[in-house]
Amino acid sequence: MISSQPTTAAPHVGAPVIAYIGLGSNLQEPQQQIALARTRILDHPEISEVAFSSLYHSPPMGPQDQPDYCNAVLAIYTLLPAIALLDFLQSIENQQGRVRQAQRWVARTLDLDILLYADQKIQLPRLTIPHPGMAERAFVLYPLYEIAPDLSIPELGELSQLLNHCPLNGLQRI
Ligand code: ATP
Ligand code: MG
Ligand code: MG
Repeated sequence: MISSQPTTAAPHVGAPVIAYIGLGSNLQEPQQQIALARTRILDHPEISEVAFSSLYHSPPMGPQDQPDYCNAVLAIYTLLPAIALLDFLQSIENQQGRVRQAQRWVARTLDLDILLYADQKIQLPRLTIPHPGMAERAFVLYPLYEIAPDLSIPELGELSQLLNHCPLNGLQRI
């Protein structure tokens, strides 16, 4: 019997997952850095946009002798495994002149952090998901809430509850 099925099977492609990326910049035209990073992320053939938050203005975390930040959160659908997504985001940080310093939380042209990847918990040497510290960061929680108010975060609970316990700390929507 002649089958109508193709003889060579298409390679299996997994279903896209939703991931949330935190974007931050406080050097060299921060708003433009964020806009350019968004464009570069969405240029990837295996990434599509779900939602993009407003831009936010926030005082620096850590060392205070640096400019204020511009922050946003981007939700994407992606076919990339989490570690490949991290590699891709770090390549964009590098393209946009990110200089890696020994000291934490110093001024930077661009920071791209994977906040959430599907509903997974990931613990690898280079990648922790949910992103550590996100539950205490107003500049993450408020933009995230804007685009995903019903989100539930692995081990951390409801986003709305986290938000209720997180003061604005000077965060302002631009
Ligand atoms: P923080 O992670 O506290 O926001 P940061 O963003 O300034 O600080 P980076 O210098 O950008 O820190 O990254 C340091 C390392 O963190 C990276 O080399 C990366 O391997 C690792 N890392 C672990 N988990 C994540 C994650 N979820 N998203 C991005 N990087 C991560
Ligand atoms: Mg960061
Ligand atoms: Mg980072």
